[in-house]
Amino acid sequence: MRRFAVICRRDEQSFQLKRQLRENLSGAGWMEDEQQPQTVFAIGGDGTFLFAVHHYLSRLETTEFLGIHTGTLGFFCDYGRDEIDQCVADVTGRTPQVEQARLLEIELPGSSRPPLFAVNEVRVENVIKTQLIDIEINGITFETFRGTGICLCTQLGSTAYNRSLGGAVVERGLPLLQLSEITGIHHRAYRSLGSSLILNPESRIRLSSASFEGAMLCYDHLYFHLDQEKEIRIRQSRQCLRIAHYRQIDYLHRLKILF
Ligand code: NAP
Repeated sequence: MRRFAVICRRDEQSFQLKRQLRENLSGAGWMEDEQQPQTVFAIGGDGTFLFAVHHYLSRLETTEFLGIHTGTLGFFCDYGRDEIDQCVADVTGRTPQVEQARLLEIELPGSSRPPLFAVNEVRVENVIKTQLIDIEINGITFETFRGTGICLCTQLGSTAYNRSLGGAVVERGLPLLQLSEITGIHHRAYRSLGSSLILNPESRIRLSSASFEGAMLCYDHLYFHLDQEKEIRIRQSRQCLRIAHYRQIDYLHRLKILF
């Protein structure tokens, strides 16, 4: 008997879909288990899917995630709000293709915090004053950036905040990292690359500053103040998110839904 849990956005439509999904899955012999689910359904949108992954971060190795959008489809969501019956028929009757996506792992060497993980991206942002950030890639000093901040995203995150920064959308299957500037200052005195930099999946990025006062570290929907920190290290983790796909949805088709 397969164990499942449902995470849903806090709106009436999502609650109603959750009730329907639970009923149908129980009818098909599945058992609800919020502590040790094998499949986690996220109902709402891509944002809810991110929330669900972080909620079950300690169980990534044994858990598959599946998204149901209250609109049509999303980047993490293969089913729309009118497709609960189809979704239940698929998960109870078929074997999924499991997409594995490595998370970003973020370390703060100056703090006692355990490593943090992100699906979409990690950002260092300072909206109060110009942030100076020394960027080192694979041990090589790359540049000193001046501006609001820096965003490092995964392939999955390339369609999220990265895209609003003018970064490239990266097709599924290319597990690349992408470093983009957030409103960089470029004039005679200050120069930095200015464009997004696509990096090898194994790249190691070190961001440091004499002061991160007023800056925030944002990772997916989570954040905290960086005031006390001097250094951030980011790389792709060995930890993988497992997304269960029962449908072949072409990446370009999914992308077209965005605009
Ligand atoms: P949120 O409300 O959960 O999400 C903001 C929007 O980003 C929603 O429309 C969400 O889609 C969409 N989204 C999330 N991940 C995506 C992905 N991988 N590809 C395409 N769209 C995606 O916002 P939040 O709690 O502040 O942050 C969660 C994520 O949202 C962040 O990781 C960030 O990438 C993204 N975000 C983007 C911007 C921006 O583009 N300016 C601003 C804030 C946050 P649904 O409507 O399907 O949930």
